[in-house]
Amino acid sequence: MKKKLFVGVMVLCLVVFVSAVRSDLAHAQRKYVSIASGWVVGVYFPLAGAISRIAHEKLPDIKITVESSGASVANAKLIATGDADLAILQNDISFYAFQGTKPMFDKPVPNIRGMAALYPEHCQIHARKDAKIASVRDLKGKRVAVGPLGSGTEQNAIQILEAYGLKFEDLGKVERLTAAESGDYLKDGRIDAAFYTTGVGASAIVDPAITVDSMIVPIDGAQADALVKKYPFYSKDKVPAGIYKGVDKDVPTVAVLAILVVKAELAEDIVYRITKAMFENIKTIEGAHAKGKEVKLEKALTGMPIPLHPGAEKFFKEKGMK
Ligand code: GLU
Repeated sequence: MKKKLFVGVMVLCLVVFVSAVRSDLAHAQRKYVSIASGWVVGVYFPLAGAISRIAHEKLPDIKITVESSGASVANAKLIATGDADLAILQNDISFYAFQGTKPMFDKPVPNIRGMAALYPEHCQIHARKDAKIASVRDLKGKRVAVGPLGSGTEQNAIQILEAYGLKFEDLGKVERLTAAESGDYLKDGRIDAAFYTTGVGASAIVDPAITVDSMIVPIDGAQADALVKKYPFYSKDKVPAGIYKGVDKDVPTVAVLAILVVKAELAEDIVYRITKAMFENIKTIEGAHAKGKEVKLEKALTGMPIPLHPGAEKFFKEKGMK
C-alpha cells in the first residue's frame, strides 16, 4: 500500500515536472515583438493595441507589446536602431527616413520596410475661437503647439506654415508639448492653437473641444495646391462636420497616410503571419477606433512609398495583389 502510494506520488511529481518544463519551453520559444505606436490620445495607439490583441488571440507563440511615443520620426529611428520591430508612422515620414532627408534624419534608415497602408491622417490645426485665427496666416504672433518632439506633425507644421509664407520664428511662441498636454494648454488658454496630424476623431481634439470653444483652421486654396504640388504625399481632404463639438461645416485640409512598417531583420514568417492575422481579423481593428473602419485590404498597398517586407509581400501576392 505504502509502495503504491510512493509510486503514485512519484508519477504525479514527474507529470508536474514535465508540464512545467514544457510550459517553460513554450515561453522561451515565444517570440516577443514590439510595436512603436504614437500618442495615447491619438489613433496609432488604439490600433496598435488591436494588432497586439489579434496576436494574443490568434498567434499564441507571438507576443506583441505596444509602446507609446512621440510618433513618426521617433518611430523610424526606433526601427533604425532595432529597438522597435514594428511601427505605425506617416507615409511621408517613412519616405524621408528611407532617403535620410535632413534635418529630420541625419542618415537613411535602410532597414525600414512596408507592411500595410492603414488610413488617411488629416493635418488638423485646432484653435481657440477667441484667438480669431481664420486662416493659417493668422497664426503669426500666436502661441502655437507645433507637434510633439519626434512627431510627423511637426514636419507637416513646418511645410504648412511655409506654404503660407511663415516660419516658426514668425509665431509668437512655439510650444513642443505632448498631444495630451496640447489639449490641456488649449483649454487653459496657455496656447492659441495646436497642430495635429492624426486620424479625424482622435481624442487629442475630441476631448478639449468639449470644454473650449474651438475650431479647425482651414488649409485650402492656392496654398493647399502648392503643398500638394511640392510634397506629393499630401492630398486634399476635409475634416467632416459633426466630429468635433463646434465644427458644424466640413473644413478643407490636407491629409497623408498612416502606414504599418517593420524592420527588415524581422523573420519573413513572423511578418507574414502578423499581416495575415491582421487582415483576417479586421473586425478587431475596426472596433478599436472609428478610423480602424478605413483599414482595408484593397487599399493596403496604395500610397506605400518604401519597399515591402518579403513577409508582407508574400501575403499580398497570395491575395493576388502584387
Ligand atoms: N501622425 C502623428 C505623428 O507622427 C501621430 C498620430 C497618432 O498617434 O495618432 O505626428
